[in-house]
Amino acid sequence: MIDLHTHSTASDGTDTPAELVRAAAGAGLRVVAITDHDTTGGWDAAVAALPAGLTLVRGAELSCVSHAVPGRVRTTLHLLAYLFDPFHPTFVAERRSLRESRLERGQQIVERMEADGLPVDWPAVRELAGDGTVGRPHIARALVRAGVVGSVDEAFGRLLHPSSPYYVPKADLEVLTAVRLVRSAGGVPVFAHPLARRRGRVVLPEVIAEMADAGLAGLEADHPDQDPADRAEVRALAQSLGLFVTGSSDYHGSNKIVRLGQEGTAQESYERIVAEATGLEPVVG
Ligand code: AMP
Ligand code: ZN
Ligand code: FE
Ligand code: FE
Repeated sequence: MIDLHTHSTASDGTDTPAELVRAAAGAGLRVVAITDHDTTGGWDAAVAALPAGLTLVRGAELSCVSHAVPGRVRTTLHLLAYLFDPFHPTFVAERRSLRESRLERGQQIVERMEADGLPVDWPAVRELAGDGTVGRPHIARALVRAGVVGSVDEAFGRLLHPSSPYYVPKADLEVLTAVRLVRSAGGVPVFAHPLARRRGRVVLPEVIAEMADAGLAGLEADHPDQDPADRAEVRALAQSLGLFVTGSSDYHGSNKIVRLGQEGTAQESYERIVAEATGLEPVVG
């Protein structure tokens, strides 16, 4: 089993990077990728704890926005980046600025909630995030802890969805710039959950075609937030654009109900990622 999309406490997962790789081995995975939001902060701890028999792909999931052109609405999307050079200066600076934007925006969401009388505060959210990249799941957990909602999922559905009055967008990275940046850092860009409609608006097929022209390598087809029809559509798009497809759990520990290895990637697609990467190689445990 190959699972190429997971989160640790370096962003909004609940397993530390060490716990994550141990859990991956325990779940019977052969290859796991660590793909925290906008950071490589979990990489070293994951490598240090890598169990024998498990291969680690170092990656990240980048917060992007599709460029606003007349007639097209602003749409946020996630780009997975695998095996890139973590020291590429422009990329380092972009990840930092994405994390800073998350801090500002998280605080603004919390302020809107406080102004409305909800019992949450920014220090509590920061504490839940620790050293990790702050995200809405941390706000969701603070709301669960305060008894406002019963679960993280309920917090997203009722209070943190893009259509909620408390929602504030982040200053995300323009997606074509992101695709080119990942390639210039020797990495391999894969569009995460391109048709996950329950999260909000998804991009048009022409945006995916533009991403392919900019250097996109693959599309994530098998993802818990994509139903069988979405997955079929993603596969058809990938085929027409000459991209490979991946499958992954998008594991977040107890922040989500998905299991490690719930979805998997074919060996062939994994080999293409490794072959196309010039930034790093997988770490064999
Ligand atoms: P943010 O990065 O702050 O915009 O928060 C988005 C993250 O929240 C996504 O990466 C998802 O992993 C997570 N997320 C979105 N919807 C849900 C949900 N219903 N339950 C749990 N986590 C979610
Ligand atoms: Zn996440
Ligand atoms: Fe995502
Ligand atoms: Fe993710």
